[in-house]
Amino acid sequence: MPPCIFCKIIKGDIPCTKVYEDKEVFAFLDIKPVNPGHTLVIPKKHYVNIHDTPDELIGKVAIVAKKIADAILKLGAKGVNIAMNNGVVAGQSVFHAHMHVMPRYGKDSFSLWVGKEYDGNEREKVAEKIRTSL
Ligand code: AMP
Ligand code: ZN
Repeated sequence: MPPCIFCKIIKGDIPCTKVYEDKEVFAFLDIKPVNPGHTLVIPKKHYVNIHDTPDELIGKVAIVAKKIADAILKLGAKGVNIAMNNGVVAGQSVFHAHMHVMPRYGKDSFSLWVGKEYDGNEREKVAEKIRTSL
């Protein structure tokens, strides 16, 4: 595995534009923002994504994401998307867990998914599978 780029950022081996840091959580600006202020919030310790990050730590990351979202809103954003891509097919490209905090102003390159329809009783069957899998 090549060295993790976000671990290098935390170590200070490559530069970033830091917006927040505490003992366990770090946040910096995304180099290719949806809009200016698009921030990545990460655990300092390396985890791949949401699935292997301990519950308590992902909770701390989420709390920092909320704080940053509040700050962005105070600065004039009209809304904020908070998202986490987990796995290649979900669009994850950096395999160090991170939450995106994306300021929204109305017109930008970000587009949300278009929902599909369920067939017959597929919806109830899927819900039952998820309930059983929990
Ligand atoms: P994801 O596709 O969810 O894994 O998001 C990874 C994000 O990391 C992308 O939005 C990239 O623009 C961002 N990114 C990659 N390298 C850097 C870097 N060196 N500094 C800041 N952001 C980065
Ligand atoms: Zn890492």
